[in-house]
Amino acid sequence: REAILAASSGGPGATSDGRPVALLANIGGPRDMRAALRYGAEGVGLYRTEFLFLDREDAPSEEEQMAAYREVLTAFPGAPVTVRVLDAGADKPLGFLPAPGHEPNPALGERGLRILRAYPDVMMGQLRALARAAEGTSARLHVMAPMVADAQEAAWFAGACEEAGLTSAGVMIEIPAAALRAAELASVVDFFSVGTNDLAQYTLAADREVGGLTRFQDPWQPVLLDLVAMAASAGVPCGVCGEAGSDPALACVLAGLGVTSLSMGAPALPWARAALARHTLAQCQAAATAARAARSAEDARAAARAHLPGLA
Ligand code: PEP
Ligand code: MG
Repeated sequence: REAILAASSGGPGATSDGRPVALLANIGGPRDMRAALRYGAEGVGLYRTEFLFLDREDAPSEEEQMAAYREVLTAFPGAPVTVRVLDAGADKPLGFLPAPGHEPNPALGERGLRILRAYPDVMMGQLRALARAAEGTSARLHVMAPMVADAQEAAWFAGACEEAGLTSAGVMIEIPAAALRAAELASVVDFFSVGTNDLAQYTLAADREVGGLTRFQDPWQPVLLDLVAMAASAGVPCGVCGEAGSDPALACVLAGLGVTSLSMGAPALPWARAALARHTLAQCQAAATAARAARSAEDARAAARAHLPGLA
């Protein structure tokens, strides 16, 4: 274990035959940022900005936001930093941005981009703060929206980013409708990032907050791999930022599906880096094909591993 970690504690992610798969960190604040640097992240694949908005009566000022964003951007010179605009609602309730009206099913209600469409000033303030934070830094800022359902929403968000002076706008693929129409969405945004946590919740109709449904929330569900494959073949760079990437075998499978970056909690990065470095792209592709042909998550896991001999 220690030897594997020591051998893979740095350097860019790639398969053994050199297909790059950027290994990025999910962060939710400055403390995670230090862990990301320690574990050799090549950048940030998901900066969850909710922490700035917690326990407040009003949105944080643009100045306050700008300072927080700049801290992360300056920590990753020359590297990609993907910031997600506020994802309020459902599992991330925020006092000052209540969903309009009572909701019996908050996960199916006003959340993510849907709330921001009801409060566009909050989103524009965040986008302006991001654009200002990037001025004079060398990090490559990408901005993405959560809970996007269709190309019309994606185009609305891309337009708002452009208005704020941002140059790279993307969307999370975490609603099945967005994956099924990935080609259409790809024509209006610059990149995708698949959120496997919510994509599993919505594809298998299994609330992520309810224990006892773990069978349905398993990221090895072959149907999820089908949806990732659709997103990854739509013609724009496509990362995965849900928990899926932190399973080293699944990291290989996702690379085999054509995913261009994997973002995860920083401590999982060395394991993903080691797993990728021990397999060729062809092995990853064979593992992905075998997993998609399986009829259950369990069978998919076993079928994939048979093609990944480098995993202990
Ligand atoms: C996801 O849904 O997979 C995701 C990465 O976002 P969050 O867990 O913050 O909803
Ligand atoms: Mg999500």
